[in-house]
Amino acid sequence: MRKKIVAANWKMNLTLNQGAELVNDLFNGMPVLNDDKLVILAPPFTHLTQTAEQLAGMIDVHLAAQNCHHEAAGAYTGEISAAMLKSAEVEYVIIGHSERRLYFKEDDATLAKKVNQALTNELKVIFCCGEPLEIRDANTQNSFVESQIKAGLFHLSTEQLEEIVLAYEPIWAIGTGRTASSAQAQDMHEHIRSVIAKQYGQEAADNMSILYGGSCKASNAAELFACPDVDGGLIGGASLKAEEFLGIIEALS
Ligand code: PEP
Repeated sequence: MRKKIVAANWKMNLTLNQGAELVNDLFNGMPVLNDDKLVILAPPFTHLTQTAEQLAGMIDVHLAAQNCHHEAAGAYTGEISAAMLKSAEVEYVIIGHSERRLYFKEDDATLAKKVNQALTNELKVIFCCGEPLEIRDANTQNSFVESQIKAGLFHLSTEQLEEIVLAYEPIWAIGTGRTASSAQAQDMHEHIRSVIAKQYGQEAADNMSILYGGSCKASNAAELFACPDVDGGLIGGASLKAEEFLGIIEALS
């Protein structure tokens, strides 16, 4: 069944102590969620073990990493494998974030390999897609996002696709304070669902959670999440403050 999800991407923020304090504050303010709703936290690699321990008593909150390497193991100094994440009790991994695509030159082929590594190691994937401003201005965002999804995911079986959560994150909205309107988000999410339906069938598309990301905050989350094809959000800046993030979680209901 399709889940409603709010996921936090802490990016390269917070020391260990600050991270622990934030999780503690979330713990104290967390509303009770129904079975069809969940929260995911993606702290930096260094925080994963500590966060896993803190989350042990929180059944609605799951642990994600922000990246994994595209090979299984070997001489890749500074990198982290999907198997290592699994052994650290991580459940999800974010793959294809626009910052990874841009700053670390992660291309479609590499991202498809990362997806394979994650699934081989029984991690679920939050797969990000989204267009830059010039593509939005040219009104070619639908085909741009469609090609990202095809390149990253269409080699998967229907069964494997069940382990994927999609996150639509228009690059012009990330960290800019410029949120997509609910109509823009709904249009794209509906398009993404139709792309999935064409390849995998309507049932697979209906079961897929598609999150919106890009300057989502407590004040605009309810309107975005009310769109029929928006199943929650991937949250950057606003996930670093407990009160703000809890406000976004409240907007799930
Ligand atoms: C993100 O980078 O995934 C994101 C959505 O960032 P922000 O919420 O800060 O725009």
